[in-house]
Amino acid sequence: MYKFLTVLLFFIFSYINLAVTEKYGTSDLRNYKISTRCKYQIKENAVSNKYEVAVWKNFTEAAISHTWDDNTSNQLTVALPIYDHYNFKTTFFTVSGWEPNWESLRSAMLNGHEVASHSHSHRRFDELTKKEINSELVNSKNEIATKLGSNKCLTYAYSNCITEDYELTKNFYIAARDCDEQIEAQTPADFMKISSFLCGSESENKTAKHFNDIAESAAVEKGWAVYLFHGVDNDGGYSSIKSDELAKHLKFLDANRTTYWLDTFVNVVKYIKERDAVIVKELSNSRNIITAELTDGLDNDIYNYPLSIKKEIPLYWNTVKVAQNKKAVQFFIKKEDGKQYVIFEAIPDAGIVSIKNYK
Ligand SMILES: [Zn+2]
Repeated sequence: MYKFLTVLLFFIFSYINLAVTEKYGTSDLRNYKISTRCKYQIKENAVSNKYEVAVWKNFTEAAISHTWDDNTSNQLTVALPIYDHYNFKTTFFTVSGWEPNWESLRSAMLNGHEVASHSHSHRRFDELTKKEINSELVNSKNEIATKLGSNKCLTYAYSNCITEDYELTKNFYIAARDCDEQIEAQTPADFMKISSFLCGSESENKTAKHFNDIAESAAVEKGWAVYLFHGVDNDGGYSSIKSDELAKHLKFLDANRTTYWLDTFVNVVKYIKERDAVIVKELSNSRNIITAELTDGLDNDIYNYPLSIKKEIPLYWNTVKVAQNKKAVQFFIKKEDGKQYVIFEAIPDAGIVSIKNYK
């Protein structure tokens, strides 16, 4: 009886083994079990391991920076509150030797606005020696940094739109603003000559419609538009603009935040350089957690702005959390063509990113 059962079991086992061999190309039942489990897992996590880094923050169409020269009196009292109303950030290119209102600049800086250099004495570089140009670049940077404490002063705006021939600016600044009225490309040809559009009474760009048109051109070109402002409401500054035209323009940008990313000059520079250098590496990808690492080889003291990154996640993930170095980061979920994606913010070289599904 036992002999019969053994023979019967042997035939049954052989039959299963043969079926498995035909189907999976292996005669090992243990492998069969493992391979079925793997197949199941792969199917569940069948998402691309690709990470897409946005050209512009939050996958917007264009970057916009507003810059203010010459420390005119209404910039901090009239223009700044309009930016703060919409929680937009702007850049003040300060002439350090023209007695700026350091206290107001400092509080603007602490609120996320940029305070950068527009030289020490506003002299034309084409009338200066190499040594004098060097002093204008260094003295203004040091003075602004000292007066404002934590401010790094990383960018520069040339006086009278006159650049210099000695390549000195790049020794002290990561980017500098020129004029030229061009939309900058996704990656500018020369960070020491970033183009800008002069606005106000001495230019063709006087009204909100003109300002909006520049932004629209930037969106068409998927580029970066930099605006150059001086006076506000006839405060004695050059080429004054009207504050209500500025307010209308900011209202337009606020209503179109999915198209336009308005930020300081320096933040856009940081974003571009990080975006072009970053390498995203997936470290793990299991049923409910994906981890990744971002590196960019840049100076982490300067290049610390978050990049926007898009990653496919499984469709069954419905309670997602994203963290970098164990701290929660901004993210949102997007569904496209039957797939699910998370778009999150992460800073290169600032710790491991974890994307988790909490069931
Ligand atoms: Zn100026």
